[in-house]
Amino acid sequence: MNIAANSLEHHWMPFTANRAFKSDPRLVVKSEGVHLWDHRGGQLLDGSSGLFCVAAGHGRTEIADAVHAQLQTNDYMSPFASGTPGSFELARKLAAILPEGIDHVFFVNSGSEAVDTALKVAMAYNRARGEGQRIRFVSRERAYHGVNIGGVSLSGMVKNRETFPVVMPNVVLMRHTWSPNERFVRGQPEGGAELAEDLQRMIDAYGASTIGACIVEPIAGSTGILVPPKGYLERLREICDTYGILLIFDEVICGFGRTGKAFASQSFGVTPDIMTMAKALTNGAQPMGAVAVSDKVYDTIVDAAPENAIEFFHGYTYSGHPAACAAGIATLDIYENEKLFERAAALSDYFLDKMFELQDIDLITDIRGYGLLAGIDLAPGAAPGLRGSEVQTRLFWNGLHVKFTGDCGIIAPPLVAERSHVDEICSIIRKTLEETGH
Ligand code: PMP
Repeated sequence: MNIAANSLEHHWMPFTANRAFKSDPRLVVKSEGVHLWDHRGGQLLDGSSGLFCVAAGHGRTEIADAVHAQLQTNDYMSPFASGTPGSFELARKLAAILPEGIDHVFFVNSGSEAVDTALKVAMAYNRARGEGQRIRFVSRERAYHGVNIGGVSLSGMVKNRETFPVVMPNVVLMRHTWSPNERFVRGQPEGGAELAEDLQRMIDAYGASTIGACIVEPIAGSTGILVPPKGYLERLREICDTYGILLIFDEVICGFGRTGKAFASQSFGVTPDIMTMAKALTNGAQPMGAVAVSDKVYDTIVDAAPENAIEFFHGYTYSGHPAACAAGIATLDIYENEKLFERAAALSDYFLDKMFELQDIDLITDIRGYGLLAGIDLAPGAAPGLRGSEVQTRLFWNGLHVKFTGDCGIIAPPLVAERSHVDEICSIIRKTLEETGH
């Protein structure tokens, strides 16, 4: 496919160096299974499942057929006070794989909307139980919680905070969990209980009665796969329980088998009060996110409202869109029928072995990993992020798609990947880094 010189001008691309991209465009025109095809006809392996969405592999006809059939039967109906059957069915199927006691699902259209909705759920819950003064949120350095105003306020990414300084007040950050002493640690590093004491410090500094919720990604994803150190999530849960603070897990990347169980919450054995999810919920085939909440949170909000009054003053025109629900139902069926979460768990050891074999490469300064997720840090070039974008482009033309954050490449193959695909990912990374040199 030829791209006319001026045909790219009008699309302002998200999270992209537009000028650089438009002088050397990389378009994907076809995808199937674990493969992508670029506009010049080259084939690539999808090493990041698109953007951590395509767990069941690309081009799943079951999902496309379900969406098509749904659009022909009932394309749209207001989700407010009416509803369509698919939304109830998808919520029921999700409740069956969610941690015990997390039984109620609110639909949104993205991870960012899920995060902002989770904050509003926390506010509504605290108000409904007569604790409306709990207006402070505890987040973490190096957190990524999407791009809406709530999520940006919680963000621990410096660029987000620098560029958009006027955001929600009353957000305080715990330290991130990466330690230079824990490089090249496979799985969970040490020292979690101590780091979790940051939450206690926030309580000591601001007073527990002002804190509404603490939000973390179980594994910090977009900022480089920071696996929670041992004891960390457990201790956060304990402190939250002691002080009546809600614990929110942002599972937008970790959910749907990425860690070898349906959710990271189950892999690490810690149950939050509220969970966000998106991405692999529909295998990326339709935009959709969701917030799942405990019985306690749901019942408190719903019971506090007078009869016939709307209990939660929130929702989107496309909450639970019929096409997205159809995609979600078909996706969950694939996960179940093909036992993809178990498959991810079974492939994880091999995947991590291979990823950690890369540590002899000079340019690599750290590798972290859990389940089918790995973060590979590169020594920065002339400025932070330059090496990452150079390597990302080289990888692409060498036949591998990898999502980079700054100088960290994030490897997350579809759960349907074979060992041979993992081998190929590694050999393309090795070859590309050798070509890159210092
Ligand atoms: N939360 C987390 C943990 C994420 O990783 C992301 C996206 N990478 C988001 C929220 C935002 O999701 P979306 O891009 O669908 O808005």
